[in-house]
Amino acid sequence: MFAMRTVSAKTIREEELPKPVPGPGQALVRIDHVTLCGTDLHIWEDDYTTELPLIQGHELSGTITELVPGSGSREALAEGVRVAIDPLDTCGECQACRRGRGNVCPHLTVLGCYGDGGFAEYVVVPQERLYPIPDSLPSDLAPVAEPIAISLEAVTRGRATGEDTVLVLGAGPIGLLATLALHDLGATVVTADTLPGRLELAKRFGADHTLLIDPTQDFPAETLAGYIGDRAADGPELVIEATGVPSSLTNAIRAVAPAGRVVQVGISTRPTNFPLNLVPFKEVDILGSRNSQGLIPQALELIARHQDTVRSLLTHRFRIRDLESAFATLGDPSQNVGKILIDMHPEEAAS
Ligand SMILES: [Zn+2]
Ligand SMILES: [Zn+2]
Repeated sequence: MFAMRTVSAKTIREEELPKPVPGPGQALVRIDHVTLCGTDLHIWEDDYTTELPLIQGHELSGTITELVPGSGSREALAEGVRVAIDPLDTCGECQACRRGRGNVCPHLTVLGCYGDGGFAEYVVVPQERLYPIPDSLPSDLAPVAEPIAISLEAVTRGRATGEDTVLVLGAGPIGLLATLALHDLGATVVTADTLPGRLELAKRFGADHTLLIDPTQDFPAETLAGYIGDRAADGPELVIEATGVPSSLTNAIRAVAPAGRVVQVGISTRPTNFPLNLVPFKEVDILGSRNSQGLIPQALELIARHQDTVRSLLTHRFRIRDLESAFATLGDPSQNVGKILIDMHPEEAAS
């Protein structure tokens, strides 16, 4: 089979490999579409905690071509069924896994990030990590279920309800998709970013209000208060921090209402600081959110209900043989990339 392997920083080599053979409880999946995210860019630049060479690709949709019965077999699956793939491979035995929180398993590996992934004609995946794509959903939108599930994890961790007023900090893909999920829930959503263009997108994703942040100025607390008014006079009940900028967490903790929740989904290795007393005084729940746990089916349903909105996030489309150009585009800030879609079989009719 055909595969594209990232062999060293910014270098991809085309390979011919034997077709993998599924074992008991596994499936052979022919990959149809892949989308790229920021993590992919870091791996491609060899600026990530993983070793190259590696076949990348972790946001995936495909079609089952072979099923082998065994433990973990699932009835909803059959040859020819289109599926989204949960790329997380957990140990199943550690403390987190035993509590149903395999998304933070210390032995976690991710298909396409720590092990060979979807820039190959076929992958072998345990059947329990495959989710049928709803009939109404085109295959090329299904890879976005993976990042949507990450946004849904943040929304779930934050115990969001339709009654809440929520501030989303950051209108990159995760913040936009969180905005969509919160809007779908019926919450009042204010989405903030430093780029006006992203705020325009946030409106399309269901933001009731948008807040332009100037990093050189104080957080625009008065503008926020004006937007949410009486509904949440003491601040939003929930803040989702999706930028990974350390000072943004400080803004989140300052802005949140007493007895509110702050979810940190943005990632950074930099330290942050804030007046510690804010946490006990307001009894703020500060919650981390990483990957997702069991939320791919919910993500697929959400995409099926909002297909035009999700499609508007896919700003660029490349053929698999042009993968290097796709990565170069992803790394070019002047390209205004939302998400990049890779067609694995461009010679076949788009589906
Ligand atoms: Zn990703
Ligand atoms: Zn584990």
